[in-house]
Amino acid sequence: MATTHNLGFPRIGANRELKFALEKYWKKESSRDELKAVGAHLRERHWKHQSRLDLVAAGDFAFYDQVLDMSFTLGNLPERVRGFHGDALDNAFRVARGGSSESAEEHAACCEGVAAGEMTKWFDTNYHYIVPEFDAATQFTLDTSRLVEQLGEARALGVNAKPVIIGPVTYLWLGKAKDDSDKLALLPRLLPVYAALLDHFAALGIEWVQIDEPALVTELDTQWRDAFVTAYDALSQRRVRLLLATYFGQLQENLDLACKLPIDGLHIDAINARDDVGAAAKLLPDSSVLSVGAINGRNIWKTDLNATLDWLEPLHASLGDRLWIAPSCSLLHTPVDLASEMKLDAEIRSWLAFALQKLDELDVLARALNDGRASVADALACNAAAIASRRASSRVHNPAVKEALTKIDATLGQRASAYETRAQKQAAMLALPAYPTTTIGSFPQTNEIRHARRQFRSGQLDATTYRAAMEREITRAVKEQEALGLDVLVHGEAERNDMVEYFGERLDGYAFSEFGWVQSYGSRCVKPPILFGDISRPKPMTVEWTRYAQAQTRKPMKGMLTGPVTILNWSFVRDDQPRSESCRQLALAIRAEVLDLEEAGVRVIQIDEAALREGLPLRRAQWDGYLRWAVEAFRIAANGVRDETQIHTHMCYSEFNDIIASIAVMDADVITIETSRSNMELLEAFDHFKYPNQIGPGVYDIHSPNIPSEAQIVALMTKAAERIPRERLWVNPDCGLKTRQWDEVIPALRNMVAAAHTLRASA
Ligand code: GLN
Ligand code: ZN
Repeated sequence: MATTHNLGFPRIGANRELKFALEKYWKKESSRDELKAVGAHLRERHWKHQSRLDLVAAGDFAFYDQVLDMSFTLGNLPERVRGFHGDALDNAFRVARGGSSESAEEHAACCEGVAAGEMTKWFDTNYHYIVPEFDAATQFTLDTSRLVEQLGEARALGVNAKPVIIGPVTYLWLGKAKDDSDKLALLPRLLPVYAALLDHFAALGIEWVQIDEPALVTELDTQWRDAFVTAYDALSQRRVRLLLATYFGQLQENLDLACKLPIDGLHIDAINARDDVGAAAKLLPDSSVLSVGAINGRNIWKTDLNATLDWLEPLHASLGDRLWIAPSCSLLHTPVDLASEMKLDAEIRSWLAFALQKLDELDVLARALNDGRASVADALACNAAAIASRRASSRVHNPAVKEALTKIDATLGQRASAYETRAQKQAAMLALPAYPTTTIGSFPQTNEIRHARRQFRSGQLDATTYRAAMEREITRAVKEQEALGLDVLVHGEAERNDMVEYFGERLDGYAFSEFGWVQSYGSRCVKPPILFGDISRPKPMTVEWTRYAQAQTRKPMKGMLTGPVTILNWSFVRDDQPRSESCRQLALAIRAEVLDLEEAGVRVIQIDEAALREGLPLRRAQWDGYLRWAVEAFRIAANGVRDETQIHTHMCYSEFNDIIASIAVMDADVITIETSRSNMELLEAFDHFKYPNQIGPGVYDIHSPNIPSEAQIVALMTKAAERIPRERLWVNPDCGLKTRQWDEVIPALRNMVAAAHTLRASA
């Protein structure tokens, strides 16, 4: 009999109950007990959903973050909350959120980890975890309270609970040594705490423990590989059985290591690492379970169950009871329930599976393996029909788009002239001063703007009235920018709810869910649009707004677009073609928009690639491949313009050194980047690499309510001018201003413009 299990379930709730309960509690509108009750209720509901499985994850629920919870279990609290005598939950929130303002958090989803506790991406997902903090003196002490509580609840419900913990090596790997000490030196101190935890589980009568070690899918040096051997040797004498879980990628050279560890089972993500499965079946000792993640835990497509059975059945024949099946990773990264999506087009809906539907799929697979396909003939036939419908659908396959893709060649991404020639023509055309000033695109999204957009969406506001309201906002933004004396203006993006959704809604090949929320961090969720078909642009998407804005001023107005790579990286993408292919389709659609803007007289066009870095593969060895097609997609989108048209791009992250050469290949005339928080440290990248074109290093940290002074801005730009010739510098904020208030933005930009004047005068 194949055993079924799950690595984790989304905790946010089908209606984002956890999000709302958390935010209510943080606003002091509910009690801690009320919040805890919501948590308990969600856990109960989620376990009931999973009750058909042989083993269910427990301890996967976290009020804020599972890595933060693990830090508490291990007694690894950062210095700033040690000795804080509050409730443990409040203490966790303090570590996670610090004293940051609400608006600072608002922006972290798009611009990576900026809230109080340091946050960073959970592997290559869009989930962000709170980074464990270490120093040479870090000690660990066991706190079993959270796990014991959750295991008790699961037991009371009668589900067969398998506690989930992050393994010791990955835990260290995820953290950061604040004093630059060697994290691995902490392993001997950490292992006894893990041993005690496992003994505690044994005492509770637990048989299996899922110990997550996804670090095994990354490139590890010898020290880290040795750490796995040390760690699991130390934990091998415990009285529980260990299922070591890997996910998100291939084990490759670490497969042999993983299979030789003294563990009782290994989980492999068969969506990303199908080839590892067969190899692991041979390498694992006969006593070991092989858990196969056969259902994609990170995407929203139905699994082709028949095709999956074709390769699972022989595996089952050889492994017998040693075969376990599960989703590829925790379902944390999928929305909860497709059944809520009443408005989604029925045909597209028939192709999808959210977390609950994935559990149904798992059940069908298990029954087919254990009792034969005939026992689930109806379910398999139904699944086959859906798979066939998607494969053949004319809504997915657009011959014109496929044809256009075949015509792409190297010339498409090539500007007519080299940068120096373009720069001269652009300078003549735009007649900008030295240290030109601009902003990144959005201006404050006021309550009126949000209200008008909501009313328009729900049909309470007609198109003409809505348009007039947005035009008023554009006019206001233009007037403010003129009064401030900015050099290159923006229209302010009032009409955009979100920089990806706005474009998705205007492109063919995209669908939108109503409740397809996925946790990004803490209480924050994102609802990624669903890229289901070949992408085309039925009509211009931004031209009218930009034209209207340009008509309000004699200064140059920047056209504002989201780039193909960012649109791709923030969407649920197709699994029936490579991401690079979908990206090229998006590139052609954005290219058409760029050319239409140019045709409409727009002289400066910015194409945001905020999420370019997020798409980097987990393994360095694969970076080049990704960067090659991602950069090429940007070039296709951007570089069809005349020499006189100035292309900008914007990126908001502080890690730059490792991809700067690729960014230069994009060949944008101007790049604006995040730098102010790092005090221009980021510009170190430019010591080693001479970036050839123009740069606007952000001088106003828009994540903070602080207003930078003129002197601060001058100081930052002076630092920048030590590395980049002043003729190639721009003065601008870090990112868009949509989360700020007008009364913060105006004084900050006033100081920014004054700083630019000072810099010009000091030449
Ligand atoms: N143009 C967008 C804005 O200003 C860019 C946002 C981003 O980079 N995250 O809001
Ligand atoms: Zn940004």
